[in-house]
Amino acid sequence: MAAETSSADEVTMLDHADPRRRSCPWAVGASLGVAAAAAEYLPAAVALGQWTPLQALPGGLCRWQGPRFPGRVAITFDDGPHPEGTPKILARLDELGLRATFFPVGSEVAREPALIDDILGRGHALGTHGFAHAHHLVKSPRWVRRDLDTAGELMEALGVALRWFRPAYGQVTGATLLHARRKGWDTVLWSSWGREWATTSPRAVAARIGRRLRPGAVVLLHDSDRFGPEGMWRVAYEALGAVGDELARRHLDAVTLDELVV
Ligand SMILES: [Zn+2]
Repeated sequence: MAAETSSADEVTMLDHADPRRRSCPWAVGASLGVAAAAAEYLPAAVALGQWTPLQALPGGLCRWQGPRFPGRVAITFDDGPHPEGTPKILARLDELGLRATFFPVGSEVAREPALIDDILGRGHALGTHGFAHAHHLVKSPRWVRRDLDTAGELMEALGVALRWFRPAYGQVTGATLLHARRKGWDTVLWSSWGREWATTSPRAVAARIGRRLRPGAVVLLHDSDRFGPEGMWRVAYEALGAVGDELARRHLDAVTLDELVV
């Protein structure tokens, strides 16, 4: 397409062009641009059912578990901070001697910024769950980039140096992964989840987690019900005791993601 010329002006322009550049016509650059744009729109994974086919992703773009270092797992909490749920969960984690990593939503952090200090002050780690908790699969790359930037700026303003990022609903597109990588964040999903939004039974939540509790596991729970059924965080809260028992039975320590993935 680029090699075709339809006017004398274009012929003249090509004739006087730098020969090194002739070998790389603009169409090649345009094609690369289109390919890059397509990659940004490409849904890399959709959260469906129990798990997603993320094993197919190129290494390093996204993780769903840590190294199978003997004796360690990471418990994570999404969707907070919540004025009631987060303090209760923090107190329960203290009682059980468990440490965790929290993935707060930017819009919720703006409402409850003091809880970020509480989380850090008790020895837990923080990531970000984006700003708006939206489905990335229906958002433009530009929207995704702005959402991550806004969430990151908010956490930086609170003195948090981010390493971990988890997209809402576990949905990632090319734009999600590429922009997180540009920002120096590790995208982390999970290998075991409580699915508290689907049950009111803490026992069912603990049993589901227990089935995939192994060294290196990343466990997903929620300390808020802002983006799920009312009372969702209470189900997680009440399941924590049984999760702690199962960890002890298997001689596993709950550590932060920074300690799991060193
Ligand atoms: Zn979420």
